[in-house]
Amino acid sequence: MSEALKSELPASFTFSQSSLQDYYECPRRFQLRYIEHLAWPAVETEPVLENELRLQQGQLFHRMIQQHLVGLPVEKLARLANTPDLKRWWENYLGYDFDISGYTIYPELILAAPVGTRRLLAKYDLLAIKAGQKALIFDWKTTHKRPRNEWMAARLQTRVYRALLVQAGAYLMGGNPIQPEQVEMIYWYSDFPSEPAHFPYNATQFKRDWDTLAALINEIGNHRHFPLTEDEKKCTYCPYRSYCNRGGKAGRLDESEAGEEEIASESALNYEQIAEIEF
Ligand code: SF4
Repeated sequence: MSEALKSELPASFTFSQSSLQDYYECPRRFQLRYIEHLAWPAVETEPVLENELRLQQGQLFHRMIQQHLVGLPVEKLARLANTPDLKRWWENYLGYDFDISGYTIYPELILAAPVGTRRLLAKYDLLAIKAGQKALIFDWKTTHKRPRNEWMAARLQTRVYRALLVQAGAYLMGGNPIQPEQVEMIYWYSDFPSEPAHFPYNATQFKRDWDTLAALINEIGNHRHFPLTEDEKKCTYCPYRSYCNRGGKAGRLDESEAGEEEIASESALNYEQIAEIEF
């Protein structure tokens, strides 16, 4: 089956944390999703409806926060919280002090930078900048369990978002380069509002991350062979598992460890595709 697959990445392809994460977990998944654009019907997790509802609610919650941050009145937005999950998340959000007074905020900002002959792009839920002092990255997570900090630290999202802000964010600091030590990434969990995960940064980590990302992007761009992962656990929640003969049954959401599979499926979402909220 693999002989028939395309293996050349278009020159215009732009990398993101989710495509890099896919490659990192399974080169074949990257090939099927981003080179072949193969839409495969297998569901990622069971129960299907519950998972879909959770993803839809997560999308709406992100948009509610974005609208709130650009100044829409709380009372209008509160009407959109029409499920128990959304109501709880919204109350948790409003009740939490994100401690960003004195910061300039940039909700849903996109940054991009060249990496070799390719481009790397990230869409941030919120950047909060205090000129010459701090650059905070906020990311909202709506998982039903709180993932381990070690697991989040190793995610490509954590590495891409901090490195790209250092590399491409100078204009947010009035043209002065952002120092890695000024950067901090914060995952805020809507169901665990008092347990955010904080990831500061430093120059050593930045160099390591940027070198790793550049090498990974170069490797993928030159690759002509995208093997199946040897770690079959990665197939449990993958939509291509029947295509790859790695089983037909989806993994159960409630059996996944600490929300990790939820984050994996969340990161594949493109929040730009979400319809604008109508009032
Ligand atoms: S089913 Fe497994 S081998 Fe196939 S693309 Fe998904 S993770 Fe890779």
